[in-house]
Amino acid sequence: MTIDEDHYLKPHPQRSNKKLNWLRAAVLGANDGIVSVAGIVAGVAGATSQSGVILAAGVAGTVAGALSMAVGEYVSVSSQKDTEKALLAEEKQAIANNPDKELKELADLYEQKGLTRDTAERVANELTKKDAYAAHIDVELGIDPDDLTNPWNAALASTLSFTAGAMIPLLSSILSPVAYRIPFTFGAVILALILTGTLSAHVSGAGKVRATARVLIGGILAMVITYGIGRLVGLNAI
Ligand SMILES: [Zn+2]
Repeated sequence: MTIDEDHYLKPHPQRSNKKLNWLRAAVLGANDGIVSVAGIVAGVAGATSQSGVILAAGVAGTVAGALSMAVGEYVSVSSQKDTEKALLAEEKQAIANNPDKELKELADLYEQKGLTRDTAERVANELTKKDAYAAHIDVELGIDPDDLTNPWNAALASTLSFTAGAMIPLLSSILSPVAYRIPFTFGAVILALILTGTLSAHVSGAGKVRATARVLIGGILAMVITYGIGRLVGLNAI
């Protein structure tokens, strides 16, 4: 069976969207952890070879980044959820107050989607009879009310994935022999970014090579730049 036949025969699994969103958030969080802590570790390693200092900076960066991810994610998901809840409440109110106007609006929306006026009115009528609210939030708002993400879950997930990602540069810089610290850390980070790049390409359905290259170039640039700055600052401080 060709991909095309397969695509049209199987109904698109709606539920997988939510899982994909979670996976995408986790991959992004891990990527953030890898790149920002790799930058910190490389920068400090450029300035000093003292393991204790590198460890302290890496741990501080991991904790600060993880907390900032948690707060950022909590705030962004909460405000999105508030907005969506307000829209849903407004829609419910409008349907209760102005059922005729809302029925016409629904038919208009279906007409805009490409149905003839007759068909659009029929669809709108039937859907309104069945569940006006569900029909409106689907076509008009595109919100699935069961799908409103919990901000606490989102905050926890991004914090955990950031920390997991951060462990790669942190551990590889601390555990590798001092003389090979920089190449070992670079190597571990590159491998990890290839993994997250491939995963994120898989999740988004984008081209694997391009997505991975993007992530890799970003990560390598971050390490090279911070290492260079660390060396400059370290040399000038002596
Ligand atoms: Zn409406």
